[in-house]
Amino acid sequence: MALDIRWRTCPKCKTAADTKRKKAVELVSVMYGVVDEEDYLESREKANLEIDLPCNLVERYNFEHCTDGLRIIYKCHCNECGYELIHNHLVEFKTPQLGKCDE
Ligand SMILES: [Zn+2]
Repeated sequence: MALDIRWRTCPKCKTAADTKRKKAVELVSVMYGVVDEEDYLESREKANLEIDLPCNLVERYNFEHCTDGLRIIYKCHCNECGYELIHNHLVEFKTPQLGKCDE
């Protein structure tokens, strides 16, 4: 069975990057009134920048029709943080579905 492959941004890495950016914004907020306005505004702008994350999460998935239903297999793994998820699920057919493609 061949799995289809897709690359995307890892949700765990995205959450970590968002947390890092939020902490940077908090650190800059205490600079208000302490440093000159130009330095404060420059630091705030840098802290608010979105961190550009690479597509380091590889997803492999497959849908396979078997005799008793539809087998759905999904696996993903992040090459950066090691996050992974495996989902293997059978959607059972209650009645034979052969020849019922009229939807
Ligand atoms: Zn990750």
